[in-house]
Amino acid sequence: MAEETIFSKIIRQEIPTPLLYQDDLVTAFRDISPQANSHILIVPNKLIPTINDVTEQDELCLGRMITVAKKLAKEEGIDENGYRLIMNCNKHGGQEVFHIHMHLVGGQPLGPMLSIRF
Ligand code: AMP
Repeated sequence: MAEETIFSKIIRQEIPTPLLYQDDLVTAFRDISPQANSHILIVPNKLIPTINDVTEQDELCLGRMITVAKKLAKEEGIDENGYRLIMNCNKHGGQEVFHIHMHLVGGQPLGPMLSIRF
């Protein structure tokens, strides 16, 4: 059984974080440490620790994350200029919270996709 993270408490509103969106599958709220003018997290309500743990049964939920990202990008007024959707996995991906989530970042030019250099 995977260990819950702070995101489960936010989803259940046991920690009072303003929600931008919630339905039966996903929840969205602002990142506590924004890396761009607009930085929103879109999270499945179900605890899935990493992308390595997703199954075919999660496909509806994973698709919903994208349609909610599109809706929120429009509400944020960043859809026309563009934005970036990011999902980190495990150590090399820089994942810190082990409850999968999609970062919706935008509101300014975001620069190169990766900061690493080979
Ligand atoms: P990742 O590195 O992809 O796992 O991203 C985790 C993100 O969760 C980081 O951008 C954190 O700033 C964000 N975060 C951690 N705790 C909270 C919280 N309580 N509310 C909102 N965002 C959070």
